[in-house]
Amino acid sequence: MPSTHHTKMLILGSGPAGLSAAIYAARAGMMPIVVQGLQPGGQLTITTDVENYPGFADVIQGPWLMEQMTAQAVHVGTSMIWDTIVDVDLSERPFRLTGDGGDVYLAETLVIATGAQAKWLGVPGEQELGGKGVSACATCDGFFYRGKKVVVIGGGNTAVEEALYLTNHSDDVTLIHRRDSLRAEKILQDRLFANPKIKVLWNKQVERFVAGEGVSGLVGVDLIDTVTGAASHEPTDGGFVAIGHSPSTELFKGKLPLDEDGYLQVTPGTSLTAIPGVFAAGDVTDKIYRQAVTAAGMGCMAALDAERFLAEAEYHALVEA
Ligand code: NDP
Repeated sequence: MPSTHHTKMLILGSGPAGLSAAIYAARAGMMPIVVQGLQPGGQLTITTDVENYPGFADVIQGPWLMEQMTAQAVHVGTSMIWDTIVDVDLSERPFRLTGDGGDVYLAETLVIATGAQAKWLGVPGEQELGGKGVSACATCDGFFYRGKKVVVIGGGNTAVEEALYLTNHSDDVTLIHRRDSLRAEKILQDRLFANPKIKVLWNKQVERFVAGEGVSGLVGVDLIDTVTGAASHEPTDGGFVAIGHSPSTELFKGKLPLDEDGYLQVTPGTSLTAIPGVFAAGDVTDKIYRQAVTAAGMGCMAALDAERFLAEAEYHALVEA
């Protein structure tokens, strides 16, 4: 039987942004509900070693970190619900959201922390070698390629920033791009071309990530020239796919302003969206930093912004009564 849940704060998404919002909101007595979505725990549940989340001197595992964050949110009073929201009505408060089983959520405030997904090439070897040479995050995994050869695939700001970042660890970085010019900002291109540790392979599309025979992990990428059709092979220890991300904002198209890449727009320096009472945090609104720790910080901001919003709304209701 579908039921109706009424809450002061509904949080969509259970990654670091959603769970940090929940921890702060629960401790403020808002009894938040977190709708976990299709990937409970978010992107960290599909990574392994994490050594850049502050507070842990030893390497920890992404899934374990998310279990701990979930347990912490529950301990302080968060309700976790397994559901997928299929409809959103933000035209009046309480906001009305509907789950795929028909449950209705009436929310005085809404925190959108639905995250983003890295785009993948979808070529052979990519999935099988994920975490064994293939990655979509140089900041997370670059450290493991100290002194090794790495390639970055893509031609936008992310790809160029990742290539530059990887030169902190590797003296042999190759950027592979499918065209003969980059889409990245000029200042980043200038830095890239000036860096002696980076070479660029133009007009090349990755056809396959190649696993080693008798050695574990990635040993190279098979390439096709997009102009001549010629095949080639580039040996490498690490392959970083940097062809963009897709923020999970499908539900909000036409309801909240999105930028040209589909990210939710917020007032800079806050979590406020265009609708009072609706807040956004984490990768769904951040295409620049995209770190667990920044997402967690933004979740905290959203909870504090929501708390302040409710306090003001309650004060006005009292004054007007
Ligand atoms: P972009 O969409 O800007 O670039 C994606 C790149 O990947 C393009 O060069 C594209 O090639 C290439 N690509 C896409 N699909 C494939 C494919 N199937 N095979 C091979 N190559 C492919 O994504 P970014 O993540 O770089 O940036 C997203 C947004 O975030 C942008 O607005 C960017 O400016 C912003 N950003 C800003 C930063 C900053 O300000 N510091 C840092 C990072 C991102 P092609 O060019 O041929 O289309």
